Amino acid sequence: MNRVRCLVLNAALGPLDYKVPDGMRVELGQVVECPLGPRTVVGIVWEAERLPGTDVPAEKLRNLRGLYPIPPLPAPLRRLIEWTADYYVASLASVARMALSSGGALKGPASITEYRLSGGMPERLTPQRQAAMEALEGEQATIRELAGIAGVSEGVLRGLVNQGVLEPVEVDCDRPYDEARPDFAQIELSDQQREAAGIFSEAVRAEKFAPFLLDGVTGSGKTETYFEPVAEALRMGRQVLVLLPEIALTENFLHRFEERFGTAPVLWHSSLKSTERRRAWRSVSSGEAQVVVGARSALFLPFANLGLIVVDEAHETSFKQEDGVRYNARDVAVMRAHFEQFPIILASATPALESLQMAESGIYAKVELPSRFGGAQLPGIDIVDLTEEKPPQGMWLAQRVVDGIAERLERGEQSLLFLNRRGYAPLTLCRHCGFRFQCPNCTAWLVEHRFTRRLACHHCGHATPSPAACPECGEPDCLVACGPGVERIADEVAERLPEARVFVATSDTLNSPGRAAEFIAAVEAKEIDVIVGTQLVTKGFHFPELTLVGVVDADLGLEGGDLRAGERTYQQVAQVAGRAGRGSKPGEVLIQTRHPEANVIAALAAGDRDAFYSAETEMRRDAGAPPFGRWASIIVSSEDETEAREAARRIGDTRPDVPDCMILGPAPAPMSLLRGRYRYRLLMNARRSVQLQDVIRQWLGRLDHPPGVRVAVDVDPYSFV
Ligand SMILES: [Zn+2]
Ligand SMILES: [Zn+2]
Repeated sequence: MNRVRCLVLNAALGPLDYKVPDGMRVELGQVVECPLGPRTVVGIVWEAERLPGTDVPAEKLRNLRGLYPIPPLPAPLRRLIEWTADYYVASLASVARMALSSGGALKGPASITEYRLSGGMPERLTPQRQAAMEALEGEQATIRELAGIAGVSEGVLRGLVNQGVLEPVEVDCDRPYDEARPDFAQIELSDQQREAAGIFSEAVRAEKFAPFLLDGVTGSGKTETYFEPVAEALRMGRQVLVLLPEIALTENFLHRFEERFGTAPVLWHSSLKSTERRRAWRSVSSGEAQVVVGARSALFLPFANLGLIVVDEAHETSFKQEDGVRYNARDVAVMRAHFEQFPIILASATPALESLQMAESGIYAKVELPSRFGGAQLPGIDIVDLTEEKPPQGMWLAQRVVDGIAERLERGEQSLLFLNRRGYAPLTLCRHCGFRFQCPNCTAWLVEHRFTRRLACHHCGHATPSPAACPECGEPDCLVACGPGVERIADEVAERLPEARVFVATSDTLNSPGRAAEFIAAVEAKEIDVIVGTQLVTKGFHFPELTLVGVVDADLGLEGGDLRAGERTYQQVAQVAGRAGRGSKPGEVLIQTRHPEANVIAALAAGDRDAFYSAETEMRRDAGAPPFGRWASIIVSSEDETEAREAARRIGDTRPDVPDCMILGPAPAPMSLLRGRYRYRLLMNARRSVQLQDVIRQWLGRLDHPPGVRVAVDVDPYSFV
């Protein structure tokens, strides 16, 4: 090739052609340095026939500057990038950027200087130095990281370096990871687990596309089951990707993985340090990383030799990215398995309706684990009708729930109260003038956080200290908290059961893997009697002494009213109920509701999942909603309200007339102001036969907007705010 077409990582530019200088060898997928004006941009050599561009005469082409020292992106990954950009109406560059997600990795081999204790002593041993040296026992890291570990300034540590107490060690940035051993430990499986594992392992050996839905009740041992095909892939020298919804809370998973394979997997998530990121990225692309456990962004890593993907808790909505390229990692993962020809396992106790429908129609193979591991029983579920069993004035827990907790306290067992609302109260108002605290940047109330004495917006992060007087009328001591958040429920438990040790588990308190590990250890050591938590505690935790789960407000999720509200409520309550009675002691679940007659509540009480799913399926079919019809939304936003409204109107006025495709709006979005931007929405609902993406591209491609206007397309949307 002496002329190549490059996809450059700049969404505003189309493909560009370059000349390959003499002596340079370039292949497809190669990541190259492209001159652009005075700058150099990152480009990927692409098949020219798949990337239409303008044909510039050869004599006008500029030379490529060089090659980045990484393997070319393999053809199936290039096809995945194309598919994702096409399906989600995104630019190729913005999708490709997700594959080249470590700037450091492009720089080639490198080393860094780390430090460790040399065994020497400082001339003067101050208490601070002594504490630092104790904290650094057995540690080796950069000065900055060591300062974080020891809790001292970098200056203190540099002093220790000068005195030879800390010695430098040159470390290869790309040093290999410890080897995961497929036969490190044998785990005892039940008959049903063994049978399922056998099916998956055979599919791994077949090296063909095979999508599976692993549908197992909570506590059935799904993880141990899919560890077997992971081991099989390792024996064959193939790489494995496990996607988890909440990477910050994977302690329990990592522990089980290490027990089974003798070492930790390679982690990939947004809070990796840049050196960890480049090391992981390079070892993935060289084929050395064996098992990668990651958040949704791990899906676009350039694996050299991927042989299996597992999507755990596959129903979780956090697999849907809500900004940038709005893709659903669960669906894209299936496409990756298809392009690269290997099996994929979607594991869940409460599968998404879309996944069940795929199994129903025979596209996914369904593998079931219908009973809990080790003979544990599923918990009994009871409804607490709040219209009959009213909590005392100003309180939120019915007496039956409090009595249930008291019983557990007496028996030395644990309880979990679930309420998906952080903070103390979702709304604060003035009793005197009626003033309500609202976020200046969003259509949202400020949420009171008593622990930190702040009023905070959960959408944009705006926060202000809780005032003593009303900012509107100036009246002191007149502010009242309306409705409960988890902090308020914790206060109520402490008030009604003073001997109980209560812990609030939310993203505010479990904001790092370390904090999560401490929490797990405290529960296991029985230092906590009652956990009050948000959706963070609904998955992954396995506490044998936890025998009561109380759902504080099962109606909360239904209020939003979008078409998935029922399904989400079902999944959330079923998942949190699944935390009860996972050991030898039976569990009990109490669901507080004002609508015991609602479909979803009745189905939960009766334990009749099939009835619930078939009712939901019929409703979706009638509404032409996914998976039976298709949805897309178009969100128009600007910091200027008039500009946003005008742009939305122009889009609405030019709507195409397409058979079997309904276009609603524009209308102000339910969150009409979000992070300082005014928002309008249009919603498209089409039959499956409509080429929705083509319609959108042609329609929006004809329009120009002022630079402050952003038009975002969301195909298969999950969020309707
Ligand atoms: Zn007031
Ligand atoms: Zn806000």
